[in-house]
Amino acid sequence: MTDKYALIGRPLSHTKSPLIHSRFAEATNQDLVYTAIEAPVGAFAETVDAFRREGGRGMNVTAPFKLDAYDYATARSERARLAGAVNAMRFDGERVEAENFDGVGLVNDIQRNLGYALKGRRVLILGAGGAARGAVLPMLDANPALLVVANRNVGRAMVLGEQFAGAPNFTTGGYDDLRGEFFDIVLNATSASLHGELPPVPADVFTAETLAYELAYGKGLTPFLRLARDAGARRLADGVGMLVEQAAEAFAWWRGVRPDTKPLIDQLTVPLA
Ligand code: NDP
Repeated sequence: MTDKYALIGRPLSHTKSPLIHSRFAEATNQDLVYTAIEAPVGAFAETVDAFRREGGRGMNVTAPFKLDAYDYATARSERARLAGAVNAMRFDGERVEAENFDGVGLVNDIQRNLGYALKGRRVLILGAGGAARGAVLPMLDANPALLVVANRNVGRAMVLGEQFAGAPNFTTGGYDDLRGEFFDIVLNATSASLHGELPPVPADVFTAETLAYELAYGKGLTPFLRLARDAGARRLADGVGMLVEQAAEAFAWWRGVRPDTKPLIDQLTVPLA
């Protein structure tokens, strides 16, 4: 019987997830169908309940429902707990397992696809929302020399700092604390680019060797990437690889087989300039 999976979110008009998972299924000979379900705000639980009654086996979750999914789950992974957000669910009878693969997808993209080992590097994350929180644990697992999270709302960054208080190479703060500091990798995990805005990051965090990574994807040269380029950074990337890598992690979790990601990343990549 064909197994059912879906993405739940709102709006979903630009989603690539059905394409990605259909290609993964073809490439690995998995009998499944993957659809996009645009649920009304406030109707997350009813929508998921109905999908499960129809035989749904698992779901990806995107904005604005990542916190609803966290509450809906009956079992949460450590990654999901630390992120405080869920981007994948697996259904088994009454049990609803919840995961967050955004951070591991990001780390896999940086290390495997872009060829930047994180070990020993100085890494800066801008933002302290769901994507940034989900990135901290997989980043620390890769042993950077230093991991800094800077956020506009400094209190939100501090809460994250308290969660990882035992990690000697991890600090949090505001944008003003970044003056005079430089980094090997700078990640824009704010949602500023979605509104054509620039987080107030000083240009001297970039060097010619810095990898500037925009988590948003398909937006070309965002204000953040333009700032990095103008400051001399030669390596620029957006989050298309992260998107495909987190999808591959979810697919492997659901189906027990890990698809090759390169063909889809090549297909979905939009030139940055
Ligand atoms: P959240 O809404 O959870 O967090 C938003 C963050 O952006 C907060 O830290 C907020 O700061 C900050 N922010 C928003 N506007 C500005 C601004 N103008 N200047 C400075 N900081 C700002 O979003 P997510 O964490 O879910 O998503 C963040 C980004 O990551 C988005 O661009 C999203 O598209 C991308 N993403 C990409 C994925 C991929 O697969 N490639 C997967 C998931 C996310 P404050 O706390 O001060 O309000």
